[in-house]
Amino acid sequence: MKDYEMVIGLEVHTELSTKTKIFCSCTTEFGGEPNTHCCPICTGMPGVLPKLNKKVVEYGIAVGLATNCSITPYGKFDRKNYFYPDLPKAYQISQLYLPICRDGFIEIEGKDFKKKIGIHEIHMEEDAGKLIHDPIFDTTRADYNRCGVPLLEIVSEPDFRSADEVIAYLETLKAILQYLGVSDCKMQEGSLRADVNLSVRPKGQTEFGTRTEMKNLNSFRSIARAIAAEKKRQIEVLESGEKVVQETRRWDDDAGYSYAMRSKEDAQDYRYFPEPDLAPVEISEEWKAEIRATLPMLPKERRNKYIEEFGLSDYDAGLITGIKALADYFDDVNAIVNDPKEVANWLLGSFMRVAKEGEDDSFRILLDPDKLAKIIAMIKTNKINRNTGKDVFFAVWKDNLDPEVYVEEHDLAMVGDDDLVKDTVAKILAENPKTVEQYKGGKTKVLGFLVGQCMKELKGKADPGTINAMLRESLK
Ligand code: ADP
Ligand code: MG
Ligand code: ZN
Repeated sequence: MKDYEMVIGLEVHTELSTKTKIFCSCTTEFGGEPNTHCCPICTGMPGVLPKLNKKVVEYGIAVGLATNCSITPYGKFDRKNYFYPDLPKAYQISQLYLPICRDGFIEIEGKDFKKKIGIHEIHMEEDAGKLIHDPIFDTTRADYNRCGVPLLEIVSEPDFRSADEVIAYLETLKAILQYLGVSDCKMQEGSLRADVNLSVRPKGQTEFGTRTEMKNLNSFRSIARAIAAEKKRQIEVLESGEKVVQETRRWDDDAGYSYAMRSKEDAQDYRYFPEPDLAPVEISEEWKAEIRATLPMLPKERRNKYIEEFGLSDYDAGLITGIKALADYFDDVNAIVNDPKEVANWLLGSFMRVAKEGEDDSFRILLDPDKLAKIIAMIKTNKINRNTGKDVFFAVWKDNLDPEVYVEEHDLAMVGDDDLVKDTVAKILAENPKTVEQYKGGKTKVLGFLVGQCMKELKGKADPGTINAMLRESLK
């Protein structure tokens, strides 16, 4: 069998977190009773006029600047005509000829790659509604609440060669969008969705192979699985002497395979034409400069800051700043304890694990930053030892309890009484003459056993370091 290489390009849709829709003043809020977030404009009644939401353009410019794009000074909207029950107007207002941004790139990094992924273009468009299938009554109902929610479609160049690169790109892009505050990027709610265009070619061949496009991918896990399955399928097709058909496929994550949905349509199939109801979008140099001036610190910059200012490793800084909520939390805790390495160790250990618990790719922080700061402070002042600190962390996390109160109520504070600790050490030594002999005979490893016995006697409420030192002293 030949050695094959994958070529992938992504079309990412992100729902913008503007208060109102792109062409009317209905709310963009997720959910709600079906068909209550609608008006004649977003349900496409005859004779109504769309009015462009300025915030959508501002968000588009911000995303373009953050992804190194050039911003189109004179852009336009176009009508993409097609009929589907979730699209009551029978056309989607989008941008074909003059999208708001072009020719940018995003830098990605992983274990065995560091590269730039080209952004072909970014355009503004409106979302469609949702069809809800009722398997019991075998009916389908339409909910138009999502109609007209603003979207940015970010189209990459076919620059990816592996699933790892795709995931790294999506994580980087998600972080950028969250830092900019333009989208909540909740994949499980559909506010970040990716279509994967994939082809394979024999290694060494310069032309691309025929691609398919996979839709309906709403988690990083399903994207990685879909890529692996589609690569395998295409190679099998080619190896059996057939040709890959250019088509749109739907990934079924439960079944673990994709099936053909429709043959690939071209732009001309949509009969695009300039949207007559909207004026061109003019973006002046001044407007661009104004938005550039308000851009927040982006993930890459913040990562550098964490390396330089806080002395964190490149890797740790990358992990923390890769999730905006985590970086903000880091800042809040560190502002109180002023010990960046200690805070980073907490966040990248137990914390990360519990925050990522759950089915989807979401990240939940349930404990207030001042409460983690209290745990760290109790460890540093020797009120509790590190092990107890961890236990307390897990105990208070879910219900956001006060760790000091918890330590009090469960009597977890370390024994303050030095005499008690001394007596315990003496007692354990007296009870274990054989071990003491072994130690004195040069088998110093047994010290750990003695420390353990003392800790047990003191119900874990002592500092193992202190006990260790006391034992050594007594055994001299
Ligand atoms: P459209 O979907 O409108 O036809 P394009 O042809 O420009 O748009 O491509 C859509 C996406 O497919 C882009 O992200 C692009 O990078 C990617 N793509 C284009 N050709 C290939 C290919 N042969 N293999 C993999 N991806 C491709
Ligand atoms: Mg497309
Ligand atoms: Zn509306």
